[in-house]
Amino acid sequence: MTIEIPAGVQKVLAQLHKEGYEAYVVGGCVRDCVMGRIPNDWDITTSALPTEVKACFERTIDTGIQHGTVTVRMDGESYEVTTYRIDGKYEDGRHPKEVTFTPSLEEDLKRRDFTINAMAYNDRDGLVDLFDGVSDIKNRKIRCVGVARERFFEDALRMLRALRFSAQLNFDIEEETFLAIKELAQTLEKISAERIQVELVKLITSDHPEKMRDIYESGLSGVFFPEWDDMLLCEQNCLHHCYSVGEHSIKVMELVPADKKMRLAALLHDVGKPLCKKTDEKGRDHFVGHPSLGAKMAREILQRLKFDNATIDDVVRLVRYHDERPELSKRNVRRMMNRVGTEYMEDLFLLKKADTLGQSEFNREEKLAYLDSLNGYYREILESQDAVTVKQLQIDGKDLLELGVQRGPQIGEILDELLKLVMEDPSMNQKDVLLEEARKAMDS
Ligand code: ATP
Ligand code: MG
Repeated sequence: MTIEIPAGVQKVLAQLHKEGYEAYVVGGCVRDCVMGRIPNDWDITTSALPTEVKACFERTIDTGIQHGTVTVRMDGESYEVTTYRIDGKYEDGRHPKEVTFTPSLEEDLKRRDFTINAMAYNDRDGLVDLFDGVSDIKNRKIRCVGVARERFFEDALRMLRALRFSAQLNFDIEEETFLAIKELAQTLEKISAERIQVELVKLITSDHPEKMRDIYESGLSGVFFPEWDDMLLCEQNCLHHCYSVGEHSIKVMELVPADKKMRLAALLHDVGKPLCKKTDEKGRDHFVGHPSLGAKMAREILQRLKFDNATIDDVVRLVRYHDERPELSKRNVRRMMNRVGTEYMEDLFLLKKADTLGQSEFNREEKLAYLDSLNGYYREILESQDAVTVKQLQIDGKDLLELGVQRGPQIGEILDELLKLVMEDPSMNQKDVLLEEARKAMDS
């Protein structure tokens, strides 16, 4: 089999070969090429020691020199070149105590996590596949290199990586490998939240967010996201639903765009439900208050997983408002835009539509028609530029100061009052009208 290596990568390999070293592309890029997918990045592995790599090229950067990685700069591009290495003893289940360089490609491939990720290639030697990665690709299996239990014991993050690759590639996890994950799931507690976050995001933004089921089945969510277990176990006996909270959330993830914010919002929009569930005397379930409790829980979960504040704020807001259904009038929709924030409305519509389609078919046509009308009102309001924030008023704090209002909280209070009037009646958003109203407010 031949792999089309990009010219720049080829040049780096050729230079290393010319200086007498071994060099291959390795890992994810080889896997992706064997599968006919386009690789994200091309990693190069070599027998040359880091100092020797540096001597081969004019411009290099010591990116991860202690792990043997040197970045080669050539023609405005960067290439990561890593020396063959053996990871020393893992004493804490997350980091090797030391890394040792080795002249053996086989040793380097052995330390890698899965057979599909442990192949190397160059034009001279063709594909080097010592652990049957190609046959695992054919059979669509994620299998550890070596004994699964030992490999997960060394580095617990690999368990979550197995599930992440299974979602990205739509592969199954080979039986022994999955059993080992179930057995060792609890050891994921040794792994930092940041590294868990990276794998979780890759999983839910893949084409197969339904693999979140296996996150539960494996016992891994029990360690870093127990709320998810509660969601999958929370049945919804009511007309609107035909799935558990967790299964419904998977459906909604599948129906929103595959970006981080939308998939997280879909994953978490009903996270408050298990704790809000009340069953009435007819046996029907109700979830009163779940959006606001859910927003609070979503914030806790995302903070725990060390997400950045911007992501947290966006997701929490979508969770908070996912169930808003104002009676249809322009005034109500203006108020909704004010509460939600105009810049969140498009995302909220995407979430609401997916939420509806992920419910039972009960009243589905009516629900979708409602959403269409809501969207129609929203667009009309945007079109006519009706004010829904204080900023959009035709007067500002300076005007009020000139009118003689005291500097301080009163300014904001009056502007809020004026906005309320304008949201009732947009024709009032004129400077003279608002100044008149402001005068009245000062007197009262
Ligand atoms: P992606 O397309 O998501 O970048 P990838 O296979 O390149 O997938 P990376 O996380 O970039 O994944 O890792 C590059 C390679 O390094 C992997 O293919 C694997 O061979 C090896 N690797 C990465 N993390 C580990 C780990 N925790 N344990 C063992 N090997 C690992
Ligand atoms: Mg990679």
